[in-house]
Amino acid sequence: MNIVHHPTDEVLLDYASGALGESWCIAIATHLALCPACRAAYESVEALGGGFLETAASGSEPELSFESLLKRIDDDTTERQEEVFVDDLPGPVPICPNPLREYIGNDLEEVAWQRLGLGAYQYVIPTNDASITARLLRIPAGQMVPEHSHRGREMTLVLAGSFSDTTGDYGRGDLQQADEDLEHQPVAALGEDCICLAITDAPLRFRSLAARMVQPFLGI
Ligand SMILES: [Zn+2]
Repeated sequence: MNIVHHPTDEVLLDYASGALGESWCIAIATHLALCPACRAAYESVEALGGGFLETAASGSEPELSFESLLKRIDDDTTERQEEVFVDDLPGPVPICPNPLREYIGNDLEEVAWQRLGLGAYQYVIPTNDASITARLLRIPAGQMVPEHSHRGREMTLVLAGSFSDTTGDYGRGDLQQADEDLEHQPVAALGEDCICLAITDAPLRFRSLAARMVQPFLGI
């Protein structure tokens, strides 16, 4: 597994501080389970968070800024990264790492898939989030998703297969963060269906009339 697309430092900080909603957390926790580099960064954030609270309480460093915190994370991660890569999780990581397994089980074949158009399927994951949707998407190998943009934020984490768009290639463990600025047409790679965990806080905006017409029935 060669993960090249990671969550931003800001998202990792939000996750560490408890500022992210449940659905976003599923994606970040699952990425962390698959990504040794981000696990190391996250452990640094946690360690620094504890240290920051202690120094703030003692009054010795009251002006620790967001930028200086990120810099300290960067420095710390550079030192630790090699060690963490060597000391990886023992044995193969299951297709659904633990944070996600608690929501859907480990067997993707057992998921109650709901049919979308174009041979694609979805499963909406039950969460306590009212306004954010977490879903599994299963896109057939070689299939193109209709071109769309976003009305809000979207996180897509690849669990199996891969997809590509103008921003790059995304394989297992890769996380794409999109917002209103990204208009894209992801294509699942040949050979294996692409199964993703997709988190959205607003409906997508499809370009084609046909896709827009069926959109209310799909709930995407
Ligand atoms: Zn990562």
